[in-house]
Amino acid sequence: RLAYVNHAFVPLDKAAVHVEDRGFQFADGIYEVCAVLNGQLLDWPLHLDRWTRNLSALLIPAPMSAAALTLVARRLIALNGYKDALLYIQVTRGAARRDHPIPADAQPTLVMTVRRFDFAARVPQQAVGVKVTSVTDQRWGRCDIKTVALLPNVLAKQTARLAGSFEAWFVSNDGVVAEGGSTNAWIVDAAGTVITHPLSARILPGIMRASLLRLAHAAQIKVEERPFTLAEAQGAAEAFLTSTTAPCLGIVEIDGVKVGSGKPGPVTRRLGELLWAEIERQTGF
Ligand code: PMP
Repeated sequence: RLAYVNHAFVPLDKAAVHVEDRGFQFADGIYEVCAVLNGQLLDWPLHLDRWTRNLSALLIPAPMSAAALTLVARRLIALNGYKDALLYIQVTRGAARRDHPIPADAQPTLVMTVRRFDFAARVPQQAVGVKVTSVTDQRWGRCDIKTVALLPNVLAKQTARLAGSFEAWFVSNDGVVAEGGSTNAWIVDAAGTVITHPLSARILPGIMRASLLRLAHAAQIKVEERPFTLAEAQGAAEAFLTSTTAPCLGIVEIDGVKVGSGKPGPVTRRLGELLWAEIERQTGF
């Protein structure tokens, strides 16, 4: 297996960055996770846009152009020979003597890795659905930036795992569900309206969220981007989550409370079909 580290392809076991890298010391960096299906990058232009926006939000200069990044990504996928995989891209501010303010001379560190991923395994999981566990949202005020500072997400997802859940939902003091530990959160009301938290500093603007919104509008499925509470979700007709690694997964239980019929609902299934059809259109998967 090969990784890409600072302008070179290197064996993954030998891939390393400096101990004074600011990603390591300050979580001073951003990342992207992109799906590779049938050797093709899914929604690549959207990932590139988000990557560029995140870099500017942290005032990190782009380590290379979007066109060059695309070439490197494709080359890394080809070199590893994976058809279905996850591409991980991380950029940190670089290595510098440890001091909080932004160093004048640091060169950003760019790391890319790729690993096999079995998207087909999502299909049986989609038929059954998953459980979620709520946790208090203790994250910072800029959850819209995809930074590598993921400690609250790590702890939340560990809590979920110990509870036997697939995902943790971040709930603030007013009861509002922002999103999951690594997924966006959705419910469907009794009238079939699809509801998800609006874009704000409280959530990560998920690529799968954007794709699903676009497809739902095109299919004339009613959507409301508004906050919803944990209680509303537990009493909803359906609930589901979206992300690059789990395109559209029904939620059948929230904190031990059964959602709807206890099986992924018809609107969730329909949205899942629309998403997979789009994935097939783009990648031939
Ligand atoms: N929210 C959070 C907190 C995430 O980490 C992710 C995954 N990057 C998502 C939502 C889903 O985003 P995407 O659809 O781009 O994978």
